[in-house]
Amino acid sequence: MGEEMDGNMILAKSLKDQGIEYVFGIVGIPVIELSMAMQSVGLKYIGMRNEQSACYAAQAIGYLTKKPGVCLVVSGPGLLHVTGGMANAQINCWPLLVIGGATSEDHEGIGGFQECPQVELSRPYCKYSARPPNASLIPTHVEKAVRLATYGRPGACYLDFPGNILQSRISVDKIVNSYAHPEPPFVFPNPKDVIRAVDALMNAKRPLIIIGKGSAYARAETYLRQLVHQTNLPFLATPMGKGVVPDNARQCVGSARTTALQKADVVLLVGARLNWILHFGRPPRFNADVKVIQIDIVPEEMHNSIKSHIAVQSDIVPFTDALIDEFTKKKFRFNENNEWWKELNEKCEKNQKTVKAMQSDEKVPLNYYAVFHNIREIIPSDCIIVSEGANTMDIGRSMLLNNLPRHRLDAGTFGTMGVGIGFAIAAALYCRDYCPSKRVVCVEGDSAFGFSGMEIETLVRYSLPVVIVIVNNSGIYSGFTVEDFKSLQNMGDATLTTPPTALSAETRYENIMNMFGKKGYFVRTIPELQNALREALIPSDHPSIINVAINPQADRKPQTYSWLTESKL
Ligand code: ADP
Ligand code: MG
Repeated sequence: MGEEMDGNMILAKSLKDQGIEYVFGIVGIPVIELSMAMQSVGLKYIGMRNEQSACYAAQAIGYLTKKPGVCLVVSGPGLLHVTGGMANAQINCWPLLVIGGATSEDHEGIGGFQECPQVELSRPYCKYSARPPNASLIPTHVEKAVRLATYGRPGACYLDFPGNILQSRISVDKIVNSYAHPEPPFVFPNPKDVIRAVDALMNAKRPLIIIGKGSAYARAETYLRQLVHQTNLPFLATPMGKGVVPDNARQCVGSARTTALQKADVVLLVGARLNWILHFGRPPRFNADVKVIQIDIVPEEMHNSIKSHIAVQSDIVPFTDALIDEFTKKKFRFNENNEWWKELNEKCEKNQKTVKAMQSDEKVPLNYYAVFHNIREIIPSDCIIVSEGANTMDIGRSMLLNNLPRHRLDAGTFGTMGVGIGFAIAAALYCRDYCPSKRVVCVEGDSAFGFSGMEIETLVRYSLPVVIVIVNNSGIYSGFTVEDFKSLQNMGDATLTTPPTALSAETRYENIMNMFGKKGYFVRTIPELQNALREALIPSDHPSIINVAINPQADRKPQTYSWLTESKL
């Protein structure tokens, strides 16, 4: 009998061979030995406290490194808990590989432990969902799952492993060895489309570039920066498209977002979808006659919601490169002094004035703008910002600047709450391994924090110095003061009188740090916030929590349109 290997080791080695670096998971029967096999081949294993968070961490590392992170879970409930994470990865177009243990095949159909139709359950949220039929075929399935997670539009894949397959031992010469596939193919644009796009932009009166997180994933920053710099065209970024071209670039019209969208006559849409985030590209948020030049790697995305003027299937890098060449040939630069720039600049100035007035109001209890202004002033300009919550995320998006790509991680296209700490764990590992001086700052609403708060223990265990700022308004959207909250509860049956949006008033979340013998910060004033933030940013080997009690009724500045409420299309 020659050398043998079990399914656990074949799987661990296959993942390593396909370039996987990180595994986030929670172990139990039947994947404990698998997690150890993974570590033994050099995969970094991060044990989490909740499967959803593990899945969020795995997909964030996928977005940051362009290689899927693995999420390892047990059968039944373990797998069910990650479906939210799989859907989130799939909808955000981020690469992810979920690996689930499953009940042994000889117990299937007779009430096996945690028996569950896992392959079928995962399929709607995945590009590929399969169970290798035996240990010898594991490498083939791993290669396919990693390829599908990263080729074309990135997304989630699921592989299912019954205990009997993981434990089976086979002779090494029976293993069907796979290969390392090359990088995803680069799709080049049709040169005619490039010329048409340049003509449309040169003839536009009110051109606008919209940069989405597809551009960030595509690593198109160098090209898009040059395009904006050279053409002087105004641009807007979607929430996670922020930083591909710096928020502080002169051409950024983020402060005039409503006007820019509403009046633009030609829009160059790069790596963004015309879904709810961009108000479907329709009136009243867009001009009814707007001509959209749409660039996407996926042809099925073309003409979604409205018909594009030009739809180009291309990778963003070669398309932008070709645009730059064509604009150079035509010596095009959008004039500084024309009406469109004047209008956008005026609008930016006006909106910035309103914000300045709100941020300089430091009355206690604090408002959002004063808090965010001071966070922005103190955090390092190159830090990775994780953000979630309702008002906290919305206001933070405009107040916290991103000058580097892939430096903002938030609730994303699926609007998922609870992603924050998982994302922060992934970001902190990424910093530790790839850019050690960089910090991760996680700005969360108090409600959002509650979804995954116990992952603080994970941050402590792996010595990850994430700074968590909880912007605490004691509720979802808004809350109540300590006195008002008490009187509401005393009005009778609390299940009938406590508003569904309320959370306990002024909860001292920072005291979680006491569980680890560390202190957290509770702050009410700007000087307290400044001191706490400065102290928390001193290099250390542990996370920090700064709990900022703000006015429970604090709100956004008045908006012409709210992001979600208008439903007439
Ligand atoms: P946002 O939330 O910023 O609007 P979306 O996630 O909605 O961004 O859209 C990103 C788009 O980018 C997706 O349609 C995806 O297919 C596309 N995309 C991803 N990678 C590339 C790439 N390398 N080249 C072109 N398009 C890409
Ligand atoms: Mg809140």
